[in-house]
Amino acid sequence: MEIKKESKFKKNFKRFGSLGLAAVFAVAIALTITFAIPRNPSDPNEPAGTTPISFDLPMNGAVVVKDYAEDRLQFNESLQRWEIHLSVDLSSENNNVFSVADGVVTSVDSNSLEGCVVEIQHKDGFVSVYSSLSDELKIKEGDSVKKGQEIGQASDSAANESKDGGHLHFTLFKDGVEVDPNNYLDLQNK
Ligand SMILES: [Zn+2]
Repeated sequence: MEIKKESKFKKNFKRFGSLGLAAVFAVAIALTITFAIPRNPSDPNEPAGTTPISFDLPMNGAVVVKDYAEDRLQFNESLQRWEIHLSVDLSSENNNVFSVADGVVTSVDSNSLEGCVVEIQHKDGFVSVYSSLSDELKIKEGDSVKKGQEIGQASDSAANESKDGGHLHFTLFKDGVEVDPNNYLDLQNK
């Protein structure tokens, strides 16, 4: 009885086994192709479960003091020279500065030219840099921060822009290159 059963199985395996093996190979090849194709992390068509990054404003009710411009020179009153400005300068009534997205504080630095500078690494290759802050920060290097979390106060600590008064000099990097924050944040509509 047992032998008969086995032989029946063998018979079925001979009949369907090769078909099953072919199906297994087909699935394996499909999986290989699916995972072998590199994905752009910022691709809006990426699979479910990976929501693309979204940004909040770094200040509440902020006014743009000096806008981002990579193709025209703007006059720097403090340095008395014309220069390109790959950042956006913002000011607000209470001077509070917030992280524009979830991330990790990768650097806290202070120098007379740029004042206190905080750098936050986000997902999708974005890094936000907040310059001309006062020394009294609400975060430290290595901290995880949430979108909208207060990090410090805008001030006139940056000597290279001190004549613009207390403000935040905000720079956004994508994959190591400065990008126009206006393309990601709604800075102009208060
Ligand atoms: Zn600036």
